[in-house]
Amino acid sequence: MANSIERCLESVLTAPLHCGQILVQETTTGHFVLSHRDDKPVDQLKVFRRAEDASNIAKYDDAGNYRPLKTAPNLRPGWRLELDTLEDLRRALDYFYPGRLAIFAAWKSGRLQTTVLRETLDRQSGMYRVAAKISDSQIDDLVADFCRSNGGCLRTILWKRDARATLTSTKLPDEKFDPNVDQAASGSPSAPTASTTSAATIPLLCQEACNLLIAECRKVVKGESALDL
Ligand code: SF4
Repeated sequence: MANSIERCLESVLTAPLHCGQILVQETTTGHFVLSHRDDKPVDQLKVFRRAEDASNIAKYDDAGNYRPLKTAPNLRPGWRLELDTLEDLRRALDYFYPGRLAIFAAWKSGRLQTTVLRETLDRQSGMYRVAAKISDSQIDDLVADFCRSNGGCLRTILWKRDARATLTSTKLPDEKFDPNVDQAASGSPSAPTASTTSAATIPLLCQEACNLLIAECRKVVKGESALDL
C-alpha cells in the first residue's frame, strides 16, 4: 500500500509541488524541502529533519491552539522540513494531512468511493443519531460555513448530500467541488482559483463527511451554536 502511494506521489512530483498549505521542493541532490507555502524566504526558518516532526508542526496553530481538523487552513508557518527520501516525504505528508495521500492515490486510479451525507448521518449511533434529523436547508447553510476553504477546510468535497446526488451545498462555489482547483491558493482563499502557477497541486479530497461535521449537524438539530474551528 505504501509503495503504491509513493508511486502515485512520484508521478505528480514536479518541482515545486503544493499540497494544502505546504510547498514541496526537490533539491538537486534528490532530497526534499517542505515549508509553509506562505513563508519566504525558506532559508530563515526553524529546521527539522525527521518525517515525524511534521506531526508536532501540525498539532497546534500559530496561536498555540490544538488543530482538531488537520485540513483547516491554519497550519502554522516558520518551519522548514528537510527530508532524504520519497518514503520520508510520503510519511511527512501523511502526518500533515492524515490519509489524504491514500485517498488521492485511490482517486487517481479511479477506485475512490464516496459516501453521501445522508448515509453517513443515518449510520450514526448513540448521541449522534439525532444528527440525521437535520433538514436540507440546514445542511445547505452548515456545509457552506463549516467546509468553506476560507477559514474552514481545504478539502475538495466529492460527496453529495443524498442518493439523488443533490449538491452538498448550493451556497459554496463550484470550485469547492473541483479537484483541479487549488483550495489553498494564496492571496484570495475565499475565492480559490485553478492552479495557474508552475506548481503542481495534490488536492486534499473529502470522500465522506468527517466526524467534526457530523458533530456540527447534531448541534444544529439540538439548537446549539456551531463549533468555531
Ligand atoms: S466534511 Fe470534509 S470538507 Fe467538510 S470540514 Fe470535514 S473534512 Fe473538511
